Formats: sequence, structure tokens, C-alpha cells
Amino acid sequence: MSAALLVDSVTVEFGSFRAIDALSLAVDFGEVRAVIGPNGAGKTTLLDVISGITRPKQGRVIFDDTSDITRSSEAVIARAGVRRKFQKPSIFEGLSVYQHIAIGAQGGFRRALSQEALGKRVHEVLEVVGLADFAERPASELAHGQKQWLEVGTVLASNPKILMLDEPVAGLTEEETERTAALVRSLKRPDRAIVVVEHDMDFVEQIADRVTVLHEGKTLFEGSMANARADERVVDVYLGR
Ligand code: ADP
Repeated sequence: MSAALLVDSVTVEFGSFRAIDALSLAVDFGEVRAVIGPNGAGKTTLLDVISGITRPKQGRVIFDDTSDITRSSEAVIARAGVRRKFQKPSIFEGLSVYQHIAIGAQGGFRRALSQEALGKRVHEVLEVVGLADFAERPASELAHGQKQWLEVGTVLASNPKILMLDEPVAGLTEEETERTAALVRSLKRPDRAIVVVEHDMDFVEQIADRVTVLHEGKTLFEGSMANARADERVVDVYLGR
């Protein structure tokens, strides 16, 4: 199987502080991987390195087996199909739900889509994220959970190969969390890898094929969520007794 994403011995330092320490991680196409661990473990920094926001001191990030994106700009990485939903949705005042998704769709294709192709793509995505009935609403009027789904839709519209979701269920109700789990599962495709950073372990158990537990910038555990729950070290540093 080919690796969608290979993080190869990456080290990130902020001054003399090592936030990520020779970390290696491989995510396959078709997989949903959750990255979990206590605050300060390095999860956001890892996403920042993959997205080109933070430059590692050492190591490489390889996309789709051959493409070295370690020193590529954020824009180049995004255009290659490595996309991220940030924790806080970026909602533009005055733009409708439809317009948000349309902006995402246009960002994902090398050539401008025809009006017709764009409309079709936006409607497909609106269906997937459950916002078809809200297309013409100003995005700023959506409920918190709906804004999260809109943000997923905006990223999804570009048809990403790697989809990174940073805390997609933070602040959501139980019902919204269930819906988000179903949504994430529906986004799985053989030619896509999904990487999720999340603190809600029940959610993680529902969506993740494997989990990577980070601790102090290193991998403490990799495997199923069920095995993570049974792992003494994971319980000690993160899950608690
Ligand atoms: P997590 O997402 O797992 O909570 P982070 O990746 O945000 O962890 O942070 C890892 C460590 O790196 C933390 O100790 C944090 O304080 C530190 N850190 C993150 N970004 C910076 C920065 N820009 N400057 C200095 N320290 C940082």
C-alpha cells in the first residue's frame, strides 16, 4: 500500500524547546488516523508542519510516496491536495453557505470550473455535509455545529487527498458529534487519507482506523483505539484511570 503521508524523523524546535522530537508517522490512503495526546504533546505543531506553516529543523514530509513537501509553501501544499480544517471555522460575514463552499471548490482545481460544474460540485458537497437546506443562508447565522460542517465542506469541496481536521467536534452537542462521526466516516475513500486531531475519545473510537498517541513530541503508541485504552502508558499520560 502506498503512503499518503509520510512524516520522516521530523524535529521542530521553538528556541531551545523541542516540540516535536524525531517523530515518524505514516498514514495510508483509505485510512482515518486520529492523532491524540495531552495538551502540549505536539499535535497542532505536527499539523502545522504538514501544512507548511511551521518548518521543521530536521526531517521530511512526503506526500503520496514521492512528493517532498517539507519546504513547500502553504499555498503549494494546499494546491497539491493536502488540506486542513482549522479548529475555529473561518466564516466570512455577508457570504452565504453556498458561497463559502464555492470558494473552497474553486481553490481545489487548477482551472476555473464552469458555472455549471461549480454549481454541481457545491450541491454535492452541501448534501454530504447536510447543509443543502441552508445554501442561501448567510453563513454567520448558522449554529456552531453547522459552522463546523460548513468548514469541513469548504475543505472537502476542493477534493483533498489528505484531509486534516483539527478538533472537529470541540463544543458540539452529543447529537452533533454523532452526526460528525457519520460525516467523517462518509468521507473515507481509497484515494484519500484523513487525519483527525481530537480529544473526544468516543468520537475517535467511532471514526479512526488507527490512533497515534503523541507525548512530548514523540509517538507513545500506535494502533487501534481499543488497544490504546488498554495500554498502561497511554492511560498514564493521557486517558487517566
Ligand atoms: P498540542 O496541539 O498537542 O496541544 P502543540 O503542538 O500546540 O501541542 O504544542 C506543543 C508544544 O510546543 C507546547 O509545549 C507548546 O507550548 C509549544 N509551542 C507550540 N507553538 C509554539 C511557538 N510558536 N513558540 C513556542 N512554543 C510553542
